[in-house]
Formats: sequence, C-alpha cells, structure tokens
Amino acid sequence: MLPYRLIYSEQYDLNLGSHVFPSRKYKWLHDRLRWTRFAVEEDFLAPAPATDADMLLVHDAEWVTKLRTGTLTYQDILRLEIPYSRQMVDAFWLAAGGTILAARNAIGMGIGFNVGGGFHHAFPGHGEGFCAINDIAVAIRVLQRDGVIQRAMVVDCDVHHGNGTASIFTGDLSVFTLSIHQFNNYPTEKPMSSLDIHLADGIGDAEYLQRLGNGYRAALTMFHPQLVVYVAGADPYYEDQLGGLSLTFDGLMERDRLVIWTAAQQKIPVAIVLAGGYAQNVEDTITIHANTAAVARDVLIR
Ligand SMILES: [Zn+2]
Repeated sequence: MLPYRLIYSEQYDLNLGSHVFPSRKYKWLHDRLRWTRFAVEEDFLAPAPATDADMLLVHDAEWVTKLRTGTLTYQDILRLEIPYSRQMVDAFWLAAGGTILAARNAIGMGIGFNVGGGFHHAFPGHGEGFCAINDIAVAIRVLQRDGVIQRAMVVDCDVHHGNGTASIFTGDLSVFTLSIHQFNNYPTEKPMSSLDIHLADGIGDAEYLQRLGNGYRAALTMFHPQLVVYVAGADPYYEDQLGGLSLTFDGLMERDRLVIWTAAQQKIPVAIVLAGGYAQNVEDTITIHANTAAVARDVLIR
C-alpha cells in the first residue's frame, strides 16, 4: 500500500461533457493509478461532502444558497464558465470534503492527496473560471476552526493566478498565499497574494524552478506554516491549451519535488490538490498528475 491515502470519489466528475475542462480526468487519473499498479483500491478513501457550515467559513450565505437551490443568475453562470447542474454542485461539495480530508490526512501521515480540488478562482460571493467553491480555503478554515492548525501556506503552482484564494486571505496573517503563474493570462485582475511570482510568457523549467525555489524557501523561513496546501496544476506544461509557459514533464516533476520535499524536510505536512490541466492530449495531463503522486510517495519512503 501507499504511505499516504488518495482521496477520491466517482462523483468528482463535474458533468461537463465536451468542455475544455476535462472533468473526467479525476476518474482517468484514478484508473491510471490502478492499472499501472501504483495504487491498489485500498489506497483510495472516499470523502464525505463538506457541510454547509464548512462552506460558510469562507463563502457568503447568498452564494451557498444560490448553488444549493439552483438560483444562479445568467451573469453568475457566465462568470463561472460551466453549465449549472445538480451534479456539478454536489461535485464541488464533495471536492471540498476531499480537500478537508486530504489536509487532515497530511497532518497525520505527512502527505494527503486529493484526486480532485484546487478550485482557486472561487471567491466568497461568486464563482469564476470553472470554480464554484474554493476547497483550498474551506479546508484551511475548517482545520483552523477545529484547532488542528493555526497557520497554513498555500503554494499555488497552477499556471493561472490564484485570485480567489488571494482575495479570501487578504489581510489574514494566519495564511500565507504564494502564487507562481503566467502574468499575461487569466485572470486579468490579480488581487495580491502574500507572494506573487509573475512569469513572462514562455518561461521554461530552469527559470521557473529557480524563481519558485527562491520565493518558496524564503516564505517558509519567514512564515513557518503548520500545513502547506500544494495546488499542483498541470497547466504550466508546454502543450497546455490554456497556458503559455513551457515546462516539460521533468520540469513539472522537479517542481513537485521542490514543493513537497522542501516542506517534508522541515516536517511540514503537505496536502496536495490537482487544479487545472488542459493539455492537447488529455493523457499528458493525467501523466503530470500521476507523476505528482509518485513524487509524494518517494518523498515519504525516502
Ligand atoms: Zn489553471
């Protein structure tokens, strides 16, 4: 068995059909991890959905009600960029439950891995960019509420800026937000994270790793988090349809090692969430996420 659990549910699928967001990727990653014998079925844990009380630690009551009752306006749906369905809403509640469980597992086992989540564009009162509920922020707030942790750091390596997460934690000294992203990309408005690393178009492995390493190590030295939430987006990949950086498979694995290993050396638990990934060939997106799971295993058994 793996030295950590993979949090997964078949209901993670957002039911989007042929949308650019491949929401079947959660199932495909599960299947890949099984048929390569990286994991056995017992390595997977099904999450319970987050409760509405959990959601309300981050989100406005009005937004939660809109999602619950299917009363989103046309504007709401345009910003969200995904069609409304009951199944979609349930999937977000489950994804948040999954990230909460991954964070709890990380505290106990060193690593927690949600085969889903990473919806960093969701704000307290609205969703955007395929993200209705900010599972990252909900998990941190739940662990703080329950007295499990006081201080957390979000290390957001998705190619897109973590605007929702940055906005939620603005002015909160208990949560450090780091976002490394392509500057000339969605979202146009980028609320300040604790540390933003803005990258020019086309940046490759070497510069990416150097700038992430410098920023991340300095942030850890300064902040001493009790939990790192690693937003392991697959979209800095050079063949991503929505990204404009040029990282290779190897570069992305080095990124995973840098984030997970550096925290592990300092005995800081790491909860991993998937976030974006829109490779021309969806198999590449699955490979990048599967590689992150492999790096996490290697760090723990080392
Ligand atoms: Zn992204």
